[in-house]
Amino acid sequence: MAKERIVSQSAQVAEAESDLDPQTLEIRPRSLGEYVGQRALVERLTIALTASKSRGDAMEHVLLHGPPGLGKTTLAHVIANEMGSRAYVTSGPALTKAGDLVGTLTKMEENDVLFIDEIHRLPASVEEYIYPAMEDRRIDFTLDSGMHARVVTISLKPFTLIGATTRAGLLTQALRSRFGIAHHLEFYGHDDLVGILERASRILSMQGISADAFDAIASRSRGTPRIAIRLLRRVRDFAAVRGTGRADRAAVDGALRLEGIDERGLDELDRKYMRAIAEIYGGGPVGVEAVAATLAEDVGTIEDMVEPYLLQLGYLARTRQGRRLTKPGADSIGFTLPAEVG
Ligand code: ADP
Repeated sequence: MAKERIVSQSAQVAEAESDLDPQTLEIRPRSLGEYVGQRALVERLTIALTASKSRGDAMEHVLLHGPPGLGKTTLAHVIANEMGSRAYVTSGPALTKAGDLVGTLTKMEENDVLFIDEIHRLPASVEEYIYPAMEDRRIDFTLDSGMHARVVTISLKPFTLIGATTRAGLLTQALRSRFGIAHHLEFYGHDDLVGILERASRILSMQGISADAFDAIASRSRGTPRIAIRLLRRVRDFAAVRGTGRADRAAVDGALRLEGIDERGLDELDRKYMRAIAEIYGGGPVGVEAVAATLAEDVGTIEDMVEPYLLQLGYLARTRQGRRLTKPGADSIGFTLPAEVG
């Protein structure tokens, strides 16, 4: 049922969606009632949904920003489901030509949802078509060029654009201002993660998981549902192959040790990143590009996957001069900061 509602656009995204096994799709909440946490956002969306349904109109355009794995794609599906419509999923880099966007928008039925992931990577030539589509539900498409050029106006059915980004700062002001609702997704608290894990474990038919096993997984999930669910699966496999079959505390410890994840949820890349700042740059400040180059990692990966959680833990500080390790950060890897930096 859920599967039929997901209409993926662009070969790249279609592939990602069909990669998802049925259980992964089932773990995804389908209604706002099943969506755990992010209460302020859920409340804003509930009001907007109820109001638009009573007006018989599409819901406001929504911009969601925050680190990966916090439930942005899930929300797009939830909103479409709540509207009784379909979600079309694509991403900024997949929409290379204006024609890709026009093709999708003209195919959409009334109140459908268009989800554009990584919307900050939308090419400028495509972005300019989005403005009138969002505001006036029309597209002015230029056919031919030079003296034969003519503009064809296509009217669109009411639709909701949901944009997701890990870098709200890279969005143009023109695009950002066209969203009726913009919301920053926060990392999830411990209890919410336990709630997500309990629900996922029922769907994965994992029985007899002890409360301390849930606690241990939640506290190592760095506030991120996607990581929590991934770790739960690793624990399930570990319990089946190396353990007693029961996902107990010992299975959690064994599985996460194998994954190289410590009690705070930090993995090898996090530790390498902190050690590079400490040992090569004396604790900082240092530009993120320099650290990424030292680690031979992509700057985007460092900024999206590594830094947000280290900032949240207070292990890292972002200053105008660059990244700096804090005392707790340095302590966590057994490094002593030079006196003037601490
Ligand atoms: P994003 O688009 O922000 O990268 P996703 O929407 O793909 O994140 O979420 C990752 C996974 O985490 C989803 O498959 C979903 O099962 C789970 N998830 C995310 N948010 C929630 C939530 N609030 N409640 C329950 N499960 C969630």
